Amino acid sequence: MIAGGGPAGAMLALLLARAGVPVTLLEKHGDFLRDFRGDTIHPSTLEVLDEIGLAEEFHRIPHHKARSLTIHTDDGVVPIADLSKLHTKYRYIAFVPQWDFLALVTDAAARYPGFRLLMNAEVHDVIREGGAVRGVRYRDPGGEHELRATLTVAADGRHSDVRRAAGLVPVEHGAPMDVVWFRLPREPADPDETFLRLSGGHLMAVIDRGTYWQLAYMIPKGGFDSLRARGIEALREPVARLLPFLAGRTGLLTGFGDVSVLSVALNRLRRWYRPGLLVIGDAAHAMSPVFGVGVNLAVQDAVAAANALAGPLAAGGPVPVSLLARIQRRRTPPTVVTQFAQRVVQDRVIRPALSRRGGPPVPRDISSLPVLGALARRFIGSGVLPEHVRTPERPYRA
Ligand SMILES: Cc1cc2nc3c(=O)[nH]c(=O)nc-3n(C[C@H](O)[C@H](O)[C@H](O)COP(=O)(O)OP(=O)(O)OC[C@H]3O[C@@H](n4cnc5c(N)ncnc54)[C@H](O)[C@@H]3O)c2cc1C
Repeated sequence: MIAGGGPAGAMLALLLARAGVPVTLLEKHGDFLRDFRGDTIHPSTLEVLDEIGLAEEFHRIPHHKARSLTIHTDDGVVPIADLSKLHTKYRYIAFVPQWDFLALVTDAAARYPGFRLLMNAEVHDVIREGGAVRGVRYRDPGGEHELRATLTVAADGRHSDVRRAAGLVPVEHGAPMDVVWFRLPREPADPDETFLRLSGGHLMAVIDRGTYWQLAYMIPKGGFDSLRARGIEALREPVARLLPFLAGRTGLLTGFGDVSVLSVALNRLRRWYRPGLLVIGDAAHAMSPVFGVGVNLAVQDAVAAANALAGPLAAGGPVPVSLLARIQRRRTPPTVVTQFAQRVVQDRVIRPALSRRGGPPVPRDISSLPVLGALARRFIGSGVLPEHVRTPERPYRA
């Protein structure tokens, strides 16, 4: 049983169902259309899709390929990572609205008879018996329910209810920013690129979603109320100044009803498991948006978990705690290294960039440096210790 139909939960459900394991995925929302999910599918996730025969189907979804990552400053464009030099099959990040990615993964899972998806199903408690988690309690429009399971996986994101119910508390590492998320229409003469825009006191991610621009404007942590108090012009003005090609369209932002605010967190559990329970993805380690790698890490957690769990679960369980500990041991180094790098960027680039006093440091072109450039593209494109699917496609036995 998996709580949470985000990248971690959906991918784990697919891999387990594909390996012949009966699996129920519970998602609290009625659809996947949450606007503020990460949109980036990295080369290592594309390889995972390739390994399970979904890469072609994925590439049929309308998407935008970013072969290099750049920061646009007032003094010009600074390349950060040139992914076209990666030694992998996929040398780009594919930008896809996350709801399309999740629909692809859950539709693929639904081809296996062991898979069951319950939407509008909000898990609010775990069932504990004999010192172990034996399933969950959830509510849906039909009322309260219990679902028992050999193993419960918490993949319910940064505000994990399952984690809280199991008494697991993450260590907070903090983030200096929140993100204001909104869109403006795209026109044919606009730049054909997804990029980061940095200018004294302002930082904005500019994501090309084909017919519209998805904009992510970073504000100091907790700063949304003061932005709102200044009125919508306080948002229109920096957009027009930082992105002059959008100046004539900022009037389409009519009020704060057109924007969402997303609180950024960076934290990690000391222990990702209890007897009968495994925590993965943001529920185990909330990722900052820096480098846009949280989806990738969530998927890699799912692959590592499926590789370890499919055999014992297909055989009917139980799953020893030592196996859950092994999954945490495997996924801890990539998580720690990635979060460390995110914290460095948060503290050295984002914090000063958002502080109007200091102004942003001028980023350097590291993409062409032999060692640093290769490290940056490996880190962003493939991540640390990328996982590969080791689970076979197996018929499900009821
Ligand atoms: C502002 C911001 C921008 C980001 N941008 C990017 C980006 O561009 N690229 C990138 O790779 N990463 C990005 N990230 C990080 C990324 O969004 C996360 O790391 C990633 O989504 C984690 O996936 P997940 O499956 O673990 O959790 P989530 O994506 O959070 O999925 C959890 C799922 O569980 C469901 N759920 C929650 N509670 C319950 C419950 N009680 N019962 C049942 N279901 C429940 C939720 O509805 C959700 O569907 C960003 C993060 C932030 C904060």
